[in-house]
Amino acid sequence: MKIVNKNGRKPNLARYRKVLEAKAEEVRRSMSAQKAAQVVARLDVPSDEGDLSQQHHEEWIFLNRNTIDMKLLREVSDALLRIGHDHYGICLECDEPISAKRLEAVPWARYCVTCQERIAARIADGEVVDQYQDADR
Ligand SMILES: [Zn+2]
Repeated sequence: MKIVNKNGRKPNLARYRKVLEAKAEEVRRSMSAQKAAQVVARLDVPSDEGDLSQQHHEEWIFLNRNTIDMKLLREVSDALLRIGHDHYGICLECDEPISAKRLEAVPWARYCVTCQERIAARIADGEVVDQYQDADR
């Protein structure tokens, strides 16, 4: 399949690849920084109940943020794979080109705006469509 936007031009893959690689690097750095912070936090033995619940709260925030980073890293690596397979900028749902404006805002976008909104509505309805929910295992 040829990647051609509505204006007839191919998206600038080299530029998107650069943006995606920079993003992946940024997420990896942020994740290892958090890991280091967590190790330091574990060395502090809580002295009473108040500290303990505070620590649990911080661990929860860490895990939560880490899951989001894992997901983002996965999205970014998938986008880089799609560049390699010459399938970048094509909606995975409807096979239509994703607008340059959307790729500019979200370079790792998997879906066009229309499909993304439909999927978001399905998630809001409680239908589970998140294929990356096991990514942190
Ligand atoms: Zn679509």
